[in-house]
Amino acid sequence: MNVREYENWIDGGWAKTDRKVERKSPAHGELLARFAQSDENAVNAAIEAARRAFDDRSIWSAIPGAERAKALGRWVDLLIREIDRLALIEAEEVGKPIRFAKAEVEWSIELARYAAALAWQIPGDLVSNIGDANLGLVTREPRGVIGMITPWNFPLVTLFQKLPFALAAGCTVVIKPSELTSGSTLEVARLAKDAGIPDGVINVVTGSGRTVGEMLTGHRKVDMISFTGSTAVGIRIAQRAAEQVKRVGLELGGKAANIVFADADIDAALDGILLGYVLNQGEECVQGTRLLVEDSVADSFLEKLVERSKNIRLGLPTDEKADVGALIHEKHMEQVLSYIQSGIDEGATLLLGGNRVTENGLGKGFYVAPTIFSDVTPEMTIFREEIFGPVLAVTRFTSVDQAIALANDTNYGLGNGVWTKDIDKAIRVSRELRSGTVYVNTFLETAVQLPFGGFKESGIGRENGLDGLLEFTEVKSTFIKLGQRPHALPHTVAN
Ligand code: NDP
Repeated sequence: MNVREYENWIDGGWAKTDRKVERKSPAHGELLARFAQSDENAVNAAIEAARRAFDDRSIWSAIPGAERAKALGRWVDLLIREIDRLALIEAEEVGKPIRFAKAEVEWSIELARYAAALAWQIPGDLVSNIGDANLGLVTREPRGVIGMITPWNFPLVTLFQKLPFALAAGCTVVIKPSELTSGSTLEVARLAKDAGIPDGVINVVTGSGRTVGEMLTGHRKVDMISFTGSTAVGIRIAQRAAEQVKRVGLELGGKAANIVFADADIDAALDGILLGYVLNQGEECVQGTRLLVEDSVADSFLEKLVERSKNIRLGLPTDEKADVGALIHEKHMEQVLSYIQSGIDEGATLLLGGNRVTENGLGKGFYVAPTIFSDVTPEMTIFREEIFGPVLAVTRFTSVDQAIALANDTNYGLGNGVWTKDIDKAIRVSRELRSGTVYVNTFLETAVQLPFGGFKESGIGRENGLDGLLEFTEVKSTFIKLGQRPHALPHTVAN
């Protein structure tokens, strides 16, 4: 097996480092790649490069939006040519099946294509009703140097929900990917140079969050941290950023519920629930990890769901037919298994799975069987905590109000699903769900134009859509005095 060797990507080139971290496959244990273990010098060099590329307005931050859009468009063309290679890297490093990795790369490119188009027309306002002698402008300027800290579950999607939007706005960036899955991020940064995106606009420094992530967060020359990952680390970043009033965008954990009413299209709901809890091995912030099902249909629904779940195929990343891959590392697998044990200990009924899988050549990997618990109550750990594995917690309800209350009984608020043929009920429920996204009669389906982000402890700010671009801008008001004509008392701001 060819081991991929990487350095940091700084100021348009590879920057050599002495120390390396190894990434071994979570699916079969073989060595896949070596990444730079960056020190303070590397992080400083990357930030300086991004700062220079931002502060020299002629490089990127103040060139016409159309020029940025064209450069991003050329990058999209190069990314399309590399879909298969990027997908393989993604599949191998994360442990996910190749066909889902490919879909992930394609979706990332779709986000970049959309963000590129936004660069043509960053919105602004003109205020012309403040007297003939005055004119007000409300403009959006790029925020500056953005530190992006991304996780391992969807290395490219989580990056592309940020990067092309920040670039379209005119920002420059320093990215710290997860030290487990840095390959695809380094590859797309290199392709950006080939597309003519100027040196210094995109920099990547690899290494651990405790070193590189902390340095980025604490550095005065970084204007904003855009983070995706656990709520615990998100809170730490927000606290540290607050010391410098540094802007933050946080895309954190979730505990999504799918509410299935008796009048739903049951077949469609079964497909959605199945996909929702096993996609990406359940390592997903909007995973449909809770199922709330109306009592009158619960028995037959669960029977069918268990049957369908038995057909889920676990496999190696290169297995074209695999539905579910390996979990990210051994410790995480142990954590998922301990959540399953807590479900058993706390009295939930195990309907399916609950075990590690080692058969059929998967013995060296970190595989957990699709697992379904019924009779789950809101006090149980598996109802409350983000498990990040293929585990579904099922709770029955008897009324619309009870379903809404159960879905909202969580500290998280990223996504939820509603399944019913009654449009009035669907709208009422989606209005009352406290989450940034609501899926109606589908799950995990979305469009690049729709903002993504969380209520409550699921985050701050939005990614994707026009809102996703605006997060990377500052608002500037300009008051212009036109000529010498007499005017009424000027409006001043006293505070
Ligand atoms: P983390 O939140 O620890 O990791 C996310 C990113 O933050 C990684 O790049 C990590 O670096 C970095 N990081 C870690 N500590 C710091 C720090 N102090 N300052 C700055 N950056 C830091 O997630 P884990 O990998 O530990 O996963 C744990 C749990 O988090 C999962 O089980 C899941 O519940 C949740 N999670 C949620 C995600 C989401 O999409 N919302 C994504 C991933 C995890 P590195 O890991 O390289 O050291």
